[in-house]
Amino acid sequence: MTVLLTGGAGYIGSHTAAELLAAGYDVIIADNFSNSSPAVLDRLEQIAWKRPKLYNVDVSDKSAFERVFAENKIDSVIHFAGYKSVGESVRVPLNYYRNNIDCTLATLELVDKYSVNSFIFSSSATVYGAENEVPYREDMRVGPCSNPYGWTKLFIEQIIKDFSSAKPEFSAVLLRYFNPVGAHRSGLIGEDPRGIPNNLMPYISKVAVGALPVLKIFGNDYPTRDGTGVRDYIHVIDLAKGHVAAMRFAENNRGTEVFNLGTGKGESVLEMVGAFGNACGRPVPYEFAPRRSGDLPEYYADVRKANEVLGWKAELSVADMCRDAWNWQSRNPNGYEE
Ligand code: NAD
Ligand code: UDP
Repeated sequence: MTVLLTGGAGYIGSHTAAELLAAGYDVIIADNFSNSSPAVLDRLEQIAWKRPKLYNVDVSDKSAFERVFAENKIDSVIHFAGYKSVGESVRVPLNYYRNNIDCTLATLELVDKYSVNSFIFSSSATVYGAENEVPYREDMRVGPCSNPYGWTKLFIEQIIKDFSSAKPEFSAVLLRYFNPVGAHRSGLIGEDPRGIPNNLMPYISKVAVGALPVLKIFGNDYPTRDGTGVRDYIHVIDLAKGHVAAMRFAENNRGTEVFNLGTGKGESVLEMVGAFGNACGRPVPYEFAPRRSGDLPEYYADVRKANEVLGWKAELSVADMCRDAWNWQSRNPNGYEE
């Protein structure tokens, strides 16, 4: 069975590729490396002893992207391609709407033309907006979103639902990720953000490896157990396995289903900093700073639906997440750059 990963050279796509290859699937990656490195392909080959087929292509350029469908018999598409920085989406919203929505429309039009009936989409917990109580359940209200990135996810969810309704043989799965962290156990692939990281775990990793001096903790006056923000961190390998489970589900389903992928447990920033210090063998320097605008105090997933319907459950602990993030960071202090 052949699975096409749009954006498959990125952080989550590369780990999903590793899991799919290990499970015996043929993997095709379509990526323009706007936020990833071609070195991922060599690393995947080292992990899996098999190299995914690569197309270096802009997925939003339908006529260029069509070659992938014309030259291969694709059974399932996992659609990761898109921009993902919340802050950048506020600064250049049109780039986000253009790239994220065009990538999706081009992919769906080709999926339609080439009769691919299984489609998995990378959505985000950010679609739940600020009004819901925790834990977030899939049937809770979505929106309003606090930034253009979040809106692209919500609009794309709707586009996929409408397409799916019009095509009875089609099966779509919308996966709402919580906070993916960690890296492959081998230390060969991991998260490699460009420039100064925005997200907590890559920032902690850079401080721990000495590339940045100190972590700023955004807010210590939230109504949480230690005053710092609480999130549902999920090991990227558990997340990757969630995609394999979702794809198997899609094979035997029709219509659109939504699943949260998280652990169901919240950890505070201070707890993550402490766990990372244990993993790397020395405390991670931090200081408290004002709250970051747009941040919610606390959210985590209700994961019962994914547990029951997909038969999938996150298994790795916060200690595993920190161990693997540190292993990746310390072996690759400059990411994929040699
Ligand atoms: P990433 O940036 O590492 O991966 C995205 C990949 O898409 C990159 O390799 C990039 O080069 C590629 N890409 C972007 N635009 C493209 C285009 N026009 N044509 C071809 N390739 C293109 O991000 P990630 O963390 O692996 O996230 C994957 C998906 O999951 C994204 O859609 C993201 O929004 C979503 N998501 C991520 C998180 C997270 O915290 N990492 C959380 C929720 C949802
Ligand atoms: N955070 C922080 N310092 C940083 C980055 C993040 O204190 O340099 C906090 C942030 O306020 C939030 C948590 O860490 O409470 C997770 O933030 P991240 O950006 O990783 O993910 P988010 O859940 O905001 O998408």
